[in-house]
Amino acid sequence: MSERRFAAIAESQKRNRLEIKEKGRRSELFAMNVFNTKRMLQYLTKDALQSVESAIFSGSKIDTKIADQVAEAMKAWAITMGATHYTHWFQPLTGSTAEKHDAFFDLLPDGRALEKFGGRQLVQQEPDASSFPSGGIRNTFEARGYTAWDPTSPAFIYGTTLCIPTIFVSYTGEALDNKAPLLRALHAVDEAATAVAKYFDKNVSKVNATLGWEQEYFLIDKALAESRPDILLTGRTLVGHSAAKGQQLDDHYFGVIPTRVLGFMSDLEQECTKLGIPVKTRHNEVAPNQFELAPVFEEANLAVDHNLLLMDVMDKIADKHGFKVLFHEKPFAGINGSGKHNNWSLATDTGINLLSPGSTPMKNLQFLTFFVNTIKAVDTYEELLRSSIASAGNDYRLGANEAPPAILSIFIGAQLSRVLDELEGVSMGKLSPEEKTELKLNVVGKIPEILLDNTDRNRTSPFAFTGNKFEMRGVGSQTNCAKPMTILNTIVAKQLQEFKKEVDALIDTKNLKKDEAVFNVLREYIKTSKRIRFDGDGYSLEWEKEAKKRKLSNNRTTPEALQVLTEAKSLALFKSMHVMSEVEVKARQEIELDAYIMHLQIEGRVLNELVYNFVIPAVINYQNKIIQNVMGHKELYGAGHIKMTGGQLDIIQKISEHMKTLKEKTDTMIDARKSANKLDDSLKKATVYSERVKSHFDEIRYHCDKLEQLIDDKDWPLIKYRELLFIK
Ligand code: ADP
Ligand code: MG
Repeated sequence: MSERRFAAIAESQKRNRLEIKEKGRRSELFAMNVFNTKRMLQYLTKDALQSVESAIFSGSKIDTKIADQVAEAMKAWAITMGATHYTHWFQPLTGSTAEKHDAFFDLLPDGRALEKFGGRQLVQQEPDASSFPSGGIRNTFEARGYTAWDPTSPAFIYGTTLCIPTIFVSYTGEALDNKAPLLRALHAVDEAATAVAKYFDKNVSKVNATLGWEQEYFLIDKALAESRPDILLTGRTLVGHSAAKGQQLDDHYFGVIPTRVLGFMSDLEQECTKLGIPVKTRHNEVAPNQFELAPVFEEANLAVDHNLLLMDVMDKIADKHGFKVLFHEKPFAGINGSGKHNNWSLATDTGINLLSPGSTPMKNLQFLTFFVNTIKAVDTYEELLRSSIASAGNDYRLGANEAPPAILSIFIGAQLSRVLDELEGVSMGKLSPEEKTELKLNVVGKIPEILLDNTDRNRTSPFAFTGNKFEMRGVGSQTNCAKPMTILNTIVAKQLQEFKKEVDALIDTKNLKKDEAVFNVLREYIKTSKRIRFDGDGYSLEWEKEAKKRKLSNNRTTPEALQVLTEAKSLALFKSMHVMSEVEVKARQEIELDAYIMHLQIEGRVLNELVYNFVIPAVINYQNKIIQNVMGHKELYGAGHIKMTGGQLDIIQKISEHMKTLKEKTDTMIDARKSANKLDDSLKKATVYSERVKSHFDEIRYHCDKLEQLIDDKDWPLIKYRELLFIK
């Protein structure tokens, strides 16, 4: 690393330390750029604050007068913080975030400033929506799209812009983004879980889904990354022989973080802290140049926003440090890819984690209720949950023996399995006092002790219970968490609704006590959802066979995985939970398929370019040098040269062989791509892309990588893995 760079890092660390010193501890920097309750207290009247808080708590409407007040307050605060512009910040279905900046003031021709930011501008905006994907919604309804304020996620200042988190919907109310369905799903799970939680504690009046994501990423030197068309255009390497040293020594995981990376992390954490993103842990990951960042968990909607914001902040700060962040699920062959574990739970407004076992049998019955219902929900809708993490990038990772398989199953550990087995054995109907005591003391009552030593964590499981939360492990590193969180919370909401109906029916018709009814229904669920529980090796072939017997889905590719979205069972679920209409679901499926096609199309084109414009010319040049060398020998020694040039001739021949197959495979892939492009139906097109275009990528790569090994290092036109992967 250059002296200059060292100096720059030292400088930025000094700046960060100074800033922390100025503000006291780091905790005082926390959320200084966020218009949170603390700021609102300073800037809003009591009425206005109450109105915003009730909107946050119960989703009630904020009237125009109050909106004006809030806008005024936000603006006043933002201007004191140096902001000059504001934007509605939203999550179009492209996967990232979008914003359109407007100045707080307009200048009149006579030079007077006209105030532009009021309640109307806060509550609703109409961005030029035509360039965002709508999956046909806007055409169908000939409606415009508008963004609407989401008061549950506080506004924040980023750079010199006040960012207001918003949903993005069509004029007729269809969601054109990832946030609107998420908010609906969170509302559904709140209602359903609150109703069930009231069985155990009447004081519960709200349940929040909580999310703690763990973001994995690679850092690559920016200049090197930019020299490779594949990284630049697709976010991953399409060719490249693995470095002599990879991750086999396991020396990167939890190893010392390189100085240059520390400089980046320190800046990043500082910025995150100011933005109220509660980042907590950072460490190296398994692969060289791979890292992970995790925050303290938060309410799911806020956590989703924070993850999206983080990805954006990371891009910018990396750039300042001469890095490029790769969020792609599989940037390099031969070493691990990146994911984004989603840790999920349910928390009441009385401060209880519903997936955390408690100190009394009753609390544990509550735990078991939410635990078993989650298992049941995932069992009923396993294929739908799988669909929520499908993407072109994640297809390279799921099931590749480094990430969970494409088959969904749940790991709960041996001890909790035993608890469920015991519960299953209890007789039906009314319980005798002895049975009840036995159940409460010896089965349910033992849970907390059990969990303490339930430390064996099965890393191959896609959905694991980890003590007080479930961890969804198949989520791709680029994926917007809103997608899996929308599905997970919807299916759990639906399941809890069903559960409540069944329990109430038993209480009413069979005259059972509440806890008896709960036990009875849970026992049935334990029986009927058994197939989803699997504690063994998720990477093994045996599991694949076993899962097939259990009739669990195994959708390896995105086109396969997305089909379930529009099946009658899924449409009915979304409709009954008021999460998405049929039009919205179909639009989403269409957009996801199109994104898949586009990603593979771009990869195919870039691969074509790499082969024809980089690899083949370089290889021919090098081969010519050897041919010249052989000709020189011939000139010097005549026919006798053959005895001396065997090595050269062998290389010439090997190069020709690889080049011949490389060209053939590439041409076949190009033809397949062209014929795929003629198809109109998205599902068909995506399937053909998966089966006939992408299917050639590996072979093309294989021959490129062989050629990389055959020719002079100086003649190879692409930066190699060993140069990309070992940041000091
Ligand atoms: P790892 O999976 O890397 O071993 P942990 O098991 O410590 O890490 O979990 C890390 C994540 O789990 C953190 O992001 C943390 O915030 C989150 N988490 C902890 N408790 C909860 C909860 N109740 N709800 C949601 N996320 C949680
Ligand atoms: Mg984890």
